[in-house]
Amino acid sequence: MTHIAVIGGGAAGAAVFGALLCKHDEAVVHWITGRSTTGRGVAYATDDDHHLLNVRASGMGLYADQDEDFVQHASRDHANVRGTDFLPRRLFGDFIEAQVRKRISSAEQRGRRFAVHPVEALRIDPQVDGYDIFLADGTCLHIDAVVLAVGALSPRPLRTVSASALASGAYELDPWNLPQRTRAPRRLIVIGTGLTAVDTLLSASTRWPDAELVAVSRHGQLPFVHPVLPIQPFPAQASLNASLLDCDGAAPMLRKIRSALRDAPDIDWRSLIDGMRPINATLWQNLTHAKRRQFLHHARWIWEASRHRVAPRSAETIQQLRDEGRLQVNAARVLGVDGQGPLDVTVRTRSNQVLTTLQADLVVQATGLDTAVAFTEHTLLSQLIDDGLVVADPLQLGLSACPDGRLLNARGDVQRGLYAIGSLLRGNLWECTAMPEIRTAAHTLASTLIADRSQAEATATVVA
Ligand SMILES: Cc1cc2nc3c(=O)[nH]c(=O)nc-3n(C[C@H](O)[C@H](O)[C@H](O)COP(=O)(O)OP(=O)(O)OC[C@H]3O[C@@H](n4cnc5c(N)ncnc54)[C@H](O)[C@@H]3O)c2cc1C
Repeated sequence: MTHIAVIGGGAAGAAVFGALLCKHDEAVVHWITGRSTTGRGVAYATDDDHHLLNVRASGMGLYADQDEDFVQHASRDHANVRGTDFLPRRLFGDFIEAQVRKRISSAEQRGRRFAVHPVEALRIDPQVDGYDIFLADGTCLHIDAVVLAVGALSPRPLRTVSASALASGAYELDPWNLPQRTRAPRRLIVIGTGLTAVDTLLSASTRWPDAELVAVSRHGQLPFVHPVLPIQPFPAQASLNASLLDCDGAAPMLRKIRSALRDAPDIDWRSLIDGMRPINATLWQNLTHAKRRQFLHHARWIWEASRHRVAPRSAETIQQLRDEGRLQVNAARVLGVDGQGPLDVTVRTRSNQVLTTLQADLVVQATGLDTAVAFTEHTLLSQLIDDGLVVADPLQLGLSACPDGRLLNARGDVQRGLYAIGSLLRGNLWECTAMPEIRTAAHTLASTLIADRSQAEATATVVA
């Protein structure tokens, strides 16, 4: 009997587990979920209804062949839900849990064998015929194939933060876990201005209505906003995409995009960026290592702000906070964070290079996804790297992998039976963390796993 394990209890793990349960196959599926609420992971475990999806409800879903629409599901308990809305992320978490429950009950009715293990996987040891996975509750599972769906890594402190600041209790590394404080902070500094920073600012502004909020990042660029209603596709997208695929590097791509916008002044630039979605992975794969590095250094900040936009309601609240003088957004480099609380945050302003030290009762690091596996303290990933079963992407964007999720080992070969999905694949796919990409990848990966298993069994029979 073949056993397949999916490690990670977030949305990506849920999507692969559900896709595998649906397959007409004999393999036993194990879902090792860690400590998180099953299927919600980091993004959809929030209970703050100011935290909105950044994709319209009609674009969200868990399975490529889904049993029920998210909009339909949300409409059952909430009146006037439209597919064009940006709904609270909590509702999508509820949807994931309901969809997983459905697949589990249908699998039970069909007598399909599976197990959910609500503990962490600590280590994976290769065996002649598969892997042994050791779980935190002492169980050892013998498995033929393993999918790593462990999401982004726990944030590491910026190098510029002193040990005393880290120990002070006034520096928060986890932006989803604002500390409970007896006294509200007078000033709170958020390091970062991306989507995570926006959520942190929204939460902080309601929890501490009198606090002065400051957000700092090198470019001080907040995410751009989605249009309230969907926009028309760019009519010349197909020819633009074809010409982008011929470009050698991000700079000529940017010139082509600018020129397309000059030629079509009535077009909303956001439709053009959205229309690149089907080719983003290929554009990234076409770049050489040096060109990828250049992109990350010079263009990543503007790409992220343009591509991963914020819901209109969140943008309005942020603008209101700025208009009321409660929020300042600074383009500056953080040179140091020191003290024992309150903390001194020293920054160099981008426009005039002037050094300033701001004092804050609370500093929150919200610098986005960490994918630098070579430096991680994640028990399982560091063991896999130390044992040479996987290898870090050279630009620290997850693990080295094939586009279909097969992982490469330290020798550069495909490591038979080891796969990944989600942010660990950024080095190969670049855009692979949003639900539209994750559900397609999960669907394809489930088929790949079953096909690889059948092939391995056929080979074993021939050898025998
Ligand atoms: C704040 C936020 C908002 C987002 N909003 C949107 C949105 O609106 N629309 C959209 O399409 N995308 C959004 N995204 C993208 C999001 O990353 C994906 O939608 C999805 O949630 C990623 O899920 P994941 O399972 O890969 O990772 P995670 O959610 O991080 O889940 C990984 C899980 O694996 C578990 N785990 C880790 N190690 C182990 C181990 N050794 N053993 C067992 N379990 C382990 C962790 O505890 C965690 O629960 C958002 C992301 C974030 C962070």
